[in-house]
Amino acid sequence: MAKIQMTTPLVEMDGDEMTRILWKMIKDELLLPYIDLKTEYYDLGLEHRNETDDQVTVDSANATLKYGVAVKCATITPNAARMTEYNLKEMWKSPNGTIRAALDGTVFRAPIIVKGIEPCVKNWEKPITLARHAYGDVYKNTEMKIEKAGKAELVFTDEDGNETRELIHNFAGPGIIQGIHNTDKSIHSFAKACFNYALDTKQDLWFATKDTISKKYDHNFKDIFQEVFDTEYKEAFEKAGIEYFYTLIDDAVARVMKAKGGFIWACKNYDGDVMSDMVSSAFGSLAMMTSVLVSPSGVYEYEAAHGTVQRHYYKHLKGEETSTNSVATIFAWTGALRKRGELDGIKELCDFADKLEKATLKTIESGRMTKDLALITSLTDVTVLNSENFIKEIRKTFEEM
Ligand code: NAP
Ligand code: MG
Repeated sequence: MAKIQMTTPLVEMDGDEMTRILWKMIKDELLLPYIDLKTEYYDLGLEHRNETDDQVTVDSANATLKYGVAVKCATITPNAARMTEYNLKEMWKSPNGTIRAALDGTVFRAPIIVKGIEPCVKNWEKPITLARHAYGDVYKNTEMKIEKAGKAELVFTDEDGNETRELIHNFAGPGIIQGIHNTDKSIHSFAKACFNYALDTKQDLWFATKDTISKKYDHNFKDIFQEVFDTEYKEAFEKAGIEYFYTLIDDAVARVMKAKGGFIWACKNYDGDVMSDMVSSAFGSLAMMTSVLVSPSGVYEYEAAHGTVQRHYYKHLKGEETSTNSVATIFAWTGALRKRGELDGIKELCDFADKLEKATLKTIESGRMTKDLALITSLTDVTVLNSENFIKEIRKTFEEM
């Protein structure tokens, strides 16, 4: 059979450790035999980032802005231990941070649902996608410890030198204060990314804050979302038959636990941090979670939600067998290929992505899986496969289909 042809290259960002090993296996077994794969390759492996003074990360982000779709392997974010391990010139910044800043994006994370791996919340039938605002609030705070009685105020000095003051508290004794901020520009980008993603995936969008208590700060989020929706998205949502729904964060949490799933839950930075860990673990496993960074201008970067699986890599280096789950990395590739197919009007590429995802799930549903899933599955007749054989079994299923 002739290989599927591509027109525009995908931006390919290679990475580190065990996921770098999986990356090559996935390409060799599942992609290259079927697709005349066109990629612009950037090696974000830590050694090459160090050699290029991290310029390769910046170049890969710029290429993503140019072509519109990227697929990224997990990468090491250096810490003190990695400085020694890789003899680094500098403690290079997190590649995800660099790419996120360049794309001004919002991160969407969704569980991959498969029969035999049931969520602990038994009424969740469809995935719940979490959209997390990645700027500001307590992640860019200023804090102060108050040692004795006194007055705390919020002071804003505008560029003309005019001061506005608000009393925070008259302290009778020791206490604490905290200053946080966000910008209308960043909230706008966040709102647009969420509305675009909802349209793209034809799912309702939920958004929640605590605006009854935070009458200016959280209310500003609510107002900006509503304004962006009313002026730019209302008609498109009606056409697509989907809804934008705003409620209070505590009400949202209660509704999520009772819901069937199948919607996007947009969260402020802190809520998103906490709730995405709850949602992902309730759905089963970090290795069964997709992650895509979407910019307001419609640029997409697909990756797995997990890291480089360092512990497995060290076993691999010692020659021991590993059973590392490649599903999230496979879905990063299929997500990117499908998006490239949609943008370039190549139906075969979209169909290929759909079919490879189905083959992956079918393999697991037939009882052939990696160890992490075998530990939590409700299936009884299970074969635990090593990293390589799992990918080979997926290929077999794909060929049969
Ligand atoms: P991790 O790579 O996500 O792995 C943590 C543990 O989760 C593993 O030891 C393993 O548990 C389990 N796990 C994760 N992915 C798995 C998979 N695909 N299959 C089977 N089990 C899986 O996190 P980490 O070990 O804390 O971090 C390693 C490196 O990844 C760090 O250098 C960090 O900077 C980087 N990181 C990168 C990204 C990214 O690029 N997006 C995200 C997070 C972390 P068991 O050992 O119990 O089997
Ligand atoms: Mg967290």
